[in-house]
Amino acid sequence: MSRDTSGSPSKKPPLPPGMVLGPDGKPCKICTAFRHWKPPTDNAKQPPSANGTDGPSPSQQKTAAMMAAFASGTGFVQPQSQSQPAAQALAPKPVRPANCPPDVEELGRATWTFLHTTAAYYPEKPTQTQRVNMLSLLRALPVLYPCSVCAQHLGENMKTRPPDVSTRAGLSRWLCEQHNEVNGRLGKETFECTVEKLDERWKDGPSDGSCD
Ligand SMILES: Cc1cc2nc3c(=O)[nH]c(=O)nc-3n(C[C@H](O)[C@H](O)[C@H](O)COP(=O)(O)OP(=O)(O)OC[C@H]3O[C@@H](n4cnc5c(N)ncnc54)[C@H](O)[C@@H]3O)c2cc1C
Repeated sequence: MSRDTSGSPSKKPPLPPGMVLGPDGKPCKICTAFRHWKPPTDNAKQPPSANGTDGPSPSQQKTAAMMAAFASGTGFVQPQSQSQPAAQALAPKPVRPANCPPDVEELGRATWTFLHTTAAYYPEKPTQTQRVNMLSLLRALPVLYPCSVCAQHLGENMKTRPPDVSTRAGLSRWLCEQHNEVNGRLGKETFECTVEKLDERWKDGPSDGSCD
């Protein structure tokens, strides 16, 4: 059991599911999906609510409703009165304007889109300058990627499996395998890393012309 500096058992509340800690040991917002993000103060034991019951306070209900809306993915939170039961407070309401900062998922999707698309348009026979620049771009990610936990994993992987910048196919496959490594850790399906599948997804679109 963890203990505080006085030697008594630590009263640290358990981490909410899905919340990711940064290297400083504090909850890392950009490493956490919005649906899992809950500021740490919300976990602390709250005083009884204003109406004298042990039920959630209005601000707790609001937070619960926001979290439910994040979880539902609808982004809609409905107005509520203070007398509504907590279950109704979980009903979805509009919460998340489109111009909110990205979470780990939005940032990830945008980054993968950029990287896979850049690889799909990388030359078949890159010049030395193109190779050097691509290598710099990829090597910068473990240093600069805002999700520090993601960056750390990528950096570890790159040590054992350095980027292949020699050809378009090599780079596309390397990125696909890196992405699959993350998919595996997150329990997602793996992508078939053939040039045909990668080109279809990131360059040409399906042969039925639905993306033309
Ligand atoms: C470098 C990096 C490291 C990351 N590390 C973490 C992490 O440690 N923890 C975490 O929670 N999140 C991490 N992420 C984010 C995570 O990978 C996802 O982007 C995020 O969870 C959103 O997932 P998604 O299901 O929307 O699709 P994404 O995984 O973002 O994929 C977007 C699209 O890419 C296609 N795709 C899927 N797999 C492949 C593949 N192997 N090759 C080519 N195309 C593919 C699919 O069509 C998919 O819809 C990381 C992102 C990056 C860029």
